[in-house]
Amino acid sequence: MYRIGVLPGDGIGPEVTTAAVSVLRAAAARADLALDLRPLPVGLDAHTRLGTTLPDETVAALAECDGWILGPVTTHAYTGPDMPNPSGALRKGFDLYANVRPARSIPGVPALYDGVDLVVLRENTEGFYADRNLLDGNGELRPDADTVISVRVVTRRACERLARAGFALARERRRKVTLVHKANVLRRGDGLFLEACRAVAADYPDVAVDDYHVDAFAMHLVMRPRDFDVIVTTNMFGDILSDEAAGLVGGLGLAPGLNAGDRTAMAQAVHGSAPDIAGRGRANPVALILSTAMLCEWLGGRHGDAAASDAGRAIRGAVDAALAAGTVRTPDLGGTAGTEALANAVVASLAAAG
Ligand code: NAD
Repeated sequence: MYRIGVLPGDGIGPEVTTAAVSVLRAAAARADLALDLRPLPVGLDAHTRLGTTLPDETVAALAECDGWILGPVTTHAYTGPDMPNPSGALRKGFDLYANVRPARSIPGVPALYDGVDLVVLRENTEGFYADRNLLDGNGELRPDADTVISVRVVTRRACERLARAGFALARERRRKVTLVHKANVLRRGDGLFLEACRAVAADYPDVAVDDYHVDAFAMHLVMRPRDFDVIVTTNMFGDILSDEAAGLVGGLGLAPGLNAGDRTAMAQAVHGSAPDIAGRGRANPVALILSTAMLCEWLGGRHGDAAASDAGRAIRGAVDAALAAGTVRTPDLGGTAGTEALANAVVASLAAAG
């Protein structure tokens, strides 16, 4: 029995989370996987009802969970001290140090490229993201009205454990790691990142490794994305490059993510809360559905549980089958179907797969 927290989030969050949970339930029933799904308050709704975007009781409940699903949150509207960014706080608080963001062409789905199959592995606990850089407060400092200093943190420990996750992942794939950095300018921070990753590479002689400056890499990614397998990079570069990679294979509506630590993991789509389409039932749920599949596979790996791994693989296969049919597509994919219809099509594909 796995305890799984369900945190719907803001904007399109509740819509895509409901969709992902319906697919998860169907996959679990099919794989004989026992789940205890626990809805927990988060985001603007939690702020209205409980006075904070991340209630203590939610964090305490998550500590008892094996993993959880977080819908996107409207963080640009989070301004006061009672409005912490749940995404950053949970990544940091639970030490979910590896943000795994695959970009994969789905057969039959319109995209700039077919045949892309890569993973951006983004450092998740430090870097330029000011909400996770200090013990208290925020790493953006404003000494006077016209000056801001942004503190960036890079530690050898965080780089090394991310690199280990990247090389281990590459061993399950095409055995190639690309390190992306800006060590020509950020000589100390990115220099340390590169040094630490190269030291780890020595333990994986069977995995090919190369590296690029991030600006040049952004171009290579657009021009020849099929050449890349596992891309290991720092927090902000990974944030940007994973959206770019999503754009190559059909857009943010298809881009999943998993925030993985050693003890627990959080399924979370790459996209945000999409206020421009929220409340209309037209968001693409596939990104969060595939994120949930990643969580199942992560649980399978961590607990040596074939049923959980099977459930994850089955969800991915069902998404591919539902999209390949081409009859049920959300507007971001050129169709007219709604969120619920696409989720139902994935559930039907699961059932059809037996
Ligand atoms: P966004 O990802 O929400 O939206 C960018 C574009 O992609 C929009 O046109 C949107 O309609 C579209 N889109 C995104 N997800 C989609 C989906 N599932 N189906 C169809 N179309 C989809 O980025 P943004 O507009 O820059 O940010 C909106 C809010 O989300 C902001 O408050 C931002 O801070 C927040 N945000 C949250 C997260 C997170 O919770 N992990 C990540 C990024 C942004």
